[in-house]
Amino acid sequence: MAERFWLETLGCPKNKVDSDKLVGTLTLDGYQPADSPEDADLVVVNTCAFIEAARQESIDTILELADARRDGARLVVTGCMAERYGDELHQAMPEVDLVAGFGVEFTDTPPASKGAPVALTATRGPRPAQGFDLLELARPASPVPWAYIKVAEGCDRICGFCAIPSFRGKQRSRSTDEIIAEVDLLVSGAESGAIAPDGQPAPALREIVLVAQDLASYGRDRSSPGERVQAGRSPIADLTRAVAERVARTRLLYLYPSGLTDELISAVLHTGVPYFDLSLQHVSRPLLARMRRWGDGERFLRRMADIRAADQHATFRSSFILGYPGETERDHDRLLEFLGEAQLDWGGFFTFSNEVGTHAADLPDQIPPELALERLRECTELQDGITAARRDLLIGQARQVLVDAPGRGRSVHEAPEIDGIVYLPADTQAGELIDVVVTAAEGPDIHAVRATDHEPATAGSRR
Ligand code: SF4
Repeated sequence: MAERFWLETLGCPKNKVDSDKLVGTLTLDGYQPADSPEDADLVVVNTCAFIEAARQESIDTILELADARRDGARLVVTGCMAERYGDELHQAMPEVDLVAGFGVEFTDTPPASKGAPVALTATRGPRPAQGFDLLELARPASPVPWAYIKVAEGCDRICGFCAIPSFRGKQRSRSTDEIIAEVDLLVSGAESGAIAPDGQPAPALREIVLVAQDLASYGRDRSSPGERVQAGRSPIADLTRAVAERVARTRLLYLYPSGLTDELISAVLHTGVPYFDLSLQHVSRPLLARMRRWGDGERFLRRMADIRAADQHATFRSSFILGYPGETERDHDRLLEFLGEAQLDWGGFFTFSNEVGTHAADLPDQIPPELALERLRECTELQDGITAARRDLLIGQARQVLVDAPGRGRSVHEAPEIDGIVYLPADTQAGELIDVVVTAAEGPDIHAVRATDHEPATAGSRR
């Protein structure tokens, strides 16, 4: 009988893509998914090391799974935490059989007997674009009608609070051809009834979500002959257009605001998914300069106004850091004013996490954690009210919804796993694109019925 694996994924969508690739590799190596961690021969934890809270969650998960696994099952820890704190983890957690950085390789057929050496090899450090690379590994069919695709790894920016470039390395983008081939494979797999890791036939693939640490900069690092980025060309806009030819929905996550060019905006609006996930982090110009980031609130507001003028359905998400060293009351007030003016659909707020080795770690004027938390609460409360009000505005509006699972789906306004959801009639099927009318809002979520079942008082255009 084939050995079985259990894979637990923590952290952001980028980590989820890595996990998909690991599942693809394990499957090729003859492993099968287990029904639970207790049934698995191999338990893998794909960790997150972004901030302290994420590290703690990763450690708790490792310990829980170490307890839950059955005798003889092997426990492997991979992902950002393994990459960044591999030696410390290895020493501090004897229950872990292998700590493996991003280059974890499943090099062998499954071990023949329990307790045999783990058939994995570990490598450390950012990987070159050639050779073994998580980015280029096979992946299984998607069990949902959408899929993340990671288009680049690493980051060339120097944001003061961020340790990611120090362990993920410089940006290295995949070629457009490789990415398109992955999209085509996912689409054709779903069309031909491929079986997803959950054991069910994959639903039709309708939405691709492009992710990278700095998505707007996709392709700018490619420099081999024939791939050199031409002056005035936007590789991410080209890629967006190419993906949009293949699926009903193309969505982009994590756009650094200076990368939001006219060409990219136009490409996004033409996909029919006018969703802009802007990585703003703050709006006070002096504080952004301390963060070693571009922009200020006025510019962000102008850009958003232009986009809204071009498309009334434009949807905005952003995330912000509260309590960065040197953040003054005035900086914080500016952020609150900005939130009131910007009327973002979705907002995420995080307190500053002091990461060893970053520029911000040794800056003067560190903010007491209680104050950062208080600022976070203020912003969250304000944004929750704005989000709820914007969801109320959808009541009575017609939309097209992608059904993610029977009874629930998303319109263009909601990214998977991050934003609210649309509750639908229970007889809807995953992969369907259906016309609905929104009937009620409940905080971030909305309820909708099929347009054909709705009384004619419908308003608004369908999207
Ligand atoms: S752009 Fe994102 S990943 Fe890159 S350094 Fe800044 S915060 Fe980190």
